[in-house]
Amino acid sequence: MNATTPIDLRSDTVTRPSPAMRSAIAAAAVGDDQYGDDPTVNALQERVAALLGKEAALWLPSGTMANQVALRTLTRPGDDVIVSREAHAVWHETGGSAANAGVQLTEIGARGVFTAEEFLAAIKPRDHPMYPPTTLVEVENTHNRAGGVVFPQDEAVRICAAARKLSIASYLDGARLWNVAAATGRSLSELAAPFDLVGVSLSKGLGAPGGSLLAGSRDVVARALRHRRMMGGAMRQVGIFAAAGIFALDNNMTRLVEDHANAHLIADRLAKCRRIAIDLATVQTNILVVGLAPDAPDAMALVATARARGVLINAFGPRTVRAVTHLDVSRDQCMKAADVLVEIASGSTT
Ligand SMILES: *Cc1c(COP(=O)(O)O)cnc(C)c1O
Repeated sequence: MNATTPIDLRSDTVTRPSPAMRSAIAAAAVGDDQYGDDPTVNALQERVAALLGKEAALWLPSGTMANQVALRTLTRPGDDVIVSREAHAVWHETGGSAANAGVQLTEIGARGVFTAEEFLAAIKPRDHPMYPPTTLVEVENTHNRAGGVVFPQDEAVRICAAARKLSIASYLDGARLWNVAAATGRSLSELAAPFDLVGVSLSKGLGAPGGSLLAGSRDVVARALRHRRMMGGAMRQVGIFAAAGIFALDNNMTRLVEDHANAHLIADRLAKCRRIAIDLATVQTNILVVGLAPDAPDAMALVATARARGVLINAFGPRTVRAVTHLDVSRDQCMKAADVLVEIASGSTT
């Protein structure tokens, strides 16, 4: 490694397309996707629909747009949407749910998960003169801010069954669903099965430069198509993105277990430091959310000192930082990064 190349653990979105992925992009057959003429987009949509066990899938530029289009498709303004505590939709979409879909989000549960009982207790019935009707439940799997934790599948099944009985739609924010499959051995179609609509991202652990998909029934995907256009997300020769996505599915899916092993490696090292609080039970995939003890530097100071020493991580709160492993960081780099973080936290060198 070049001594000046930082070890970038800010996110699994920082990966750069490899030469082989770039070749696939360069060679992609393309057409105008708004006429349905892009063969590579069509192939990717069919592939992802099949992987997720759904009738149809729709390509979108980003995971945030996938989430926003899902909300628009499955709700009406004024509706109530039940989500997990600290959901991506609550923290990372700049208020889009209120601005675009006009819905309110109700956070339930803890540490990224919730139970069917908690869901049932939070539902506001329709036809009440005061309550905003709950029309959608959203599950985030893996859960980003909770540290990449996996949502228990049996609970997802119970929640979606309860929702269906009450004519409440269900959406899976599966930006990192590939990591769930890698961590649990469950198939993507099993993970997606309980939900009406599922979002997945190609630009996280799979390493593509962009692109997300929504998958569901033909009818729901047809409605999503309209909202993609309305939000300005309908594009033209995006086969150049889709080719990267197909390449990523072919080459970068089975290796996700390496990212998980590297995250465990870092976690085990950090856990030995008295000034770092990490719950090893939450380290299930490729994300580490780490607390800093009162006698450790705060998050901003730790991030700045780590940056000066060639390790990039994100501040997630005043005394919380996040590190994410991905295909552009090796096992050796992860071990080195863990050593640097421990040294800074324990104040042994700066
Ligand atoms: C990253 C992420 C998104 C959004 O994806 P972008 O492509 O960054 O817009 C949505 N949901 C979750 C859980 C994510 O981690």
